[in-house]
Amino acid sequence: MRINVTRSTMPPLEEYVDELKELWDSHWLTNNGAKLKQLEEKLKIYLHTPHLQMFANGHLGLEALLRAMKLKGEVITTPFTFASTTHAIVRCGLRPVFCDIDPVTCTMDPAKVEALISPRTCAILPVHVYGNLCDDRALRVIADRHGLKLIYDAAHAFGVSQNGVYAAQMGDAAMFSFHATKVFHTIEGGAVATADPALSEALALERNYGIVDEETVVTVGGNAKMNEFQAAMGLCNLRHVEEAIEKRRCVTEWYRSELDGREGIVLPALKEGVIPNYAYFPVIFTGERLSRDEVCKRLGEHDIYARKYFYPLTTDFACYRGLPGFDSSLTPVAKQISQQIVTLPLYPDLPEEEVRLICSLILG
Ligand SMILES: *Cc1c(COP(=O)(O)O)cnc(C)c1O
Repeated sequence: MRINVTRSTMPPLEEYVDELKELWDSHWLTNNGAKLKQLEEKLKIYLHTPHLQMFANGHLGLEALLRAMKLKGEVITTPFTFASTTHAIVRCGLRPVFCDIDPVTCTMDPAKVEALISPRTCAILPVHVYGNLCDDRALRVIADRHGLKLIYDAAHAFGVSQNGVYAAQMGDAAMFSFHATKVFHTIEGGAVATADPALSEALALERNYGIVDEETVVTVGGNAKMNEFQAAMGLCNLRHVEEAIEKRRCVTEWYRSELDGREGIVLPALKEGVIPNYAYFPVIFTGERLSRDEVCKRLGEHDIYARKYFYPLTTDFACYRGLPGFDSSLTPVAKQISQQIVTLPLYPDLPEEEVRLICSLILG
């Protein structure tokens, strides 16, 4: 049987059908429906944020955020991320400036940020890669010292906290993705969390054409609304998310018990005070025994598909070739890790024997 890197969690079908019955009664399918409002309230509590705006997907949430903040100029970000982060910056008419990463957490290295700041810099946009939280304290100090916005791509960090500080509380705002492959999902979906009520209002306008009421349109917004079917899926999945995270923890433990301390293999560090969500299981193959590409090939021969996540760096994408500043040699740590890292299959119902098989193939 084929094993993919991930598999979407599904709630019991009856639970989803029950939610849908109410939509057949109300005929209200989108535009601030009852399901959306319910989910928004529940997620505010779960994520620990005073304001949360839901979106059709995480990427549109991030674009809406960059627009709502009225940013201009350069944004310091990381090339070790999914296409969405870099594309959002570029699509909003901003210029990404790429900062290297910390080799242990794979998140932006705060020690390398200040050298990249110019008079044109307006914001810092780091990513909590694999749910590893960035060094928020250090980044906040830098942002404040230079009057910059601090915006997190928290797509991987659903519910993650460190010493009681939650991902949604870090930075001026944080984007979460509820894509089908994420720890918590609404099929497609996302949200932006912030403590700033004015920013939250601006996000709501960006999401729905800038419409305040029937006769008042105040900004050139787009359409990025989450519909009721998405919200209904979210309500169901949220009931089971703790159980899903616990199952992910078990899978992670099985991997660790097999792979920890083996020659040529580096596993993610466990950080003090962090409550993780076990979104991914990244493994670095330093090449003493096997290279990352050899591991992927060997697994593929057994119909097991790990993912080279993140490879290539966004700076190496064909669509950016030759553009100034898009040069992966400027971020050597990210470049090296992108060639050595792979995320192994991880989802709540991945059976223990499959994990043992994957490990024996890697070690064999
Ligand atoms: C999934 C993801 C996104 C985009 O989220 P969508 O909901 O798929 O639009 C952005 N950044 C990162 C790092 C992601 O993994």
